Amino acid sequence: MIRKLLRRAIDNVLRLETPSRRAPATIPVSQHGIRRTSISAGSRRTCEVLQEAGFKAYVVGGAVRDLIAGIEPKDFDVATNATPDQVRNLFRRSRIIGRRFQIVHVMQGSETLEVSTFRAAHDADTQKDEHGRVLRDNVWGTQMADAARRDFTVNALYYDPSSETVLDYHHGVADLKQKTLRMIGEPRTRYREDPMRMLRAVRLSAKLGLSLDPALREPIREMASLMENVPAARVFDEMLKLLTSGHAVECVKRLRDDGLHHGLLPLLDVILEQPLGEKFVMLALTNTDDRVREGKTVSPSFLFATLLWHEVLGDWDKRKAAKEPSIPALFTAMDAVLDQQSEKLAITRRISGDIKDIWALQPRFDKRSGKTPLRLLEQPRFRAGYDFLLLRAESGEVPLELAHWWRDFQHADHITREEMLVPDTGPKKRRPRRRVKKAPEDAAETPS
Ligand code: ATP
Ligand code: MG
Repeated sequence: MIRKLLRRAIDNVLRLETPSRRAPATIPVSQHGIRRTSISAGSRRTCEVLQEAGFKAYVVGGAVRDLIAGIEPKDFDVATNATPDQVRNLFRRSRIIGRRFQIVHVMQGSETLEVSTFRAAHDADTQKDEHGRVLRDNVWGTQMADAARRDFTVNALYYDPSSETVLDYHHGVADLKQKTLRMIGEPRTRYREDPMRMLRAVRLSAKLGLSLDPALREPIREMASLMENVPAARVFDEMLKLLTSGHAVECVKRLRDDGLHHGLLPLLDVILEQPLGEKFVMLALTNTDDRVREGKTVSPSFLFATLLWHEVLGDWDKRKAAKEPSIPALFTAMDAVLDQQSEKLAITRRISGDIKDIWALQPRFDKRSGKTPLRLLEQPRFRAGYDFLLLRAESGEVPLELAHWWRDFQHADHITREEMLVPDTGPKKRRPRRRVKKAPEDAAETPS
């Protein structure tokens, strides 16, 4: 037992202290199973062209990891020792993008490949903020350095299509097989450099079904507050990635089990504390996961509208209790919630406009008489509003019967719709008669 512990400790020290000095393991196709036909034609061709010109070129990162794990990769990235200008010169259909750290987009058929030059690891000269967050990452380096600056061992894998071998710098293949997500280097340092790695750890472990190495997991709880220093636009992008990964429910479960939803997911910590709110969000995320897995699109505005709805309800209730008129109170509550979130999340103006449209439709579903229901059907956002109503009904916020009425009403023919409308029972509002004073000269012109 003691020997085992000792061996593990030595192993860990070796892992932490010498990652950039060790030569990579070369893993043959018999062990990793990635044939060159498994990668996209565009990435294959891009590597070929670079290699024929005398450069190193590999498919790298998430795609190699996913293929070994038996998951179809989202995209294929290429890493090379050629500089962006050299890459640009080799491909007619390519352009350099990014200012701080240039990468090249290479177009191959309908594919766009991201080709990046090996980057250097961080050292004393790296520019950081006062919390240790790396601000710039734009020095070219060796392939070994490039591997060391990646986040997790399973992401530091380089696949060479010509030899069908994988260069594995940090035991990533073994970690994948053992289903463990492990950080390259010392986790606390790596979280300080980039706090987003905490969210990435949760997202990737859920996606790949990996367990978090304790060394990587332990510091998250105490370091979660570092997320507050990350630019809001980046938090928004990463949140969106997590929520649309097809594993959102699993991600949120993992965050909650570890008490990490406080601070890590700015939206969720409050919502998940209220039972109705939790039910609503979990239903929304389950729906989203199903859609992603079926290859359907998901709308970020719908998603964020669901996540924030119970915040809006809470604020709206308070305003109504303070005797503010209902509809203006809803609009004030919507703005208040969005303002508060945008500090942390950088929800774009277009998305917040769409979110408000969905919310503003909700009280209109209560009205089942007069002209309102027919007018509502014609709203461009009716479908999203109705889907939202369904979630509200399923979570117990409004009666299911209301959602069923709208389901039937929208598909019914003209006559049935008329029959479905609930007669107006309230006191009829009399329109005040308008008195028109007729000027004598006007009166002469008025047709009879
Ligand atoms: P997926 O594409 O499934 O979302 P991914 O790991 O490929 O996951 P990308 O954002 O596409 O994520 O990043 C590509 C690669 O860049 C990663 O595999 C990793 O090696 C590296 N990388 C990305 N983000 C970071 C980070 N914050 N710190 C260090 N390395 C990173
Ligand atoms: Mg990727």
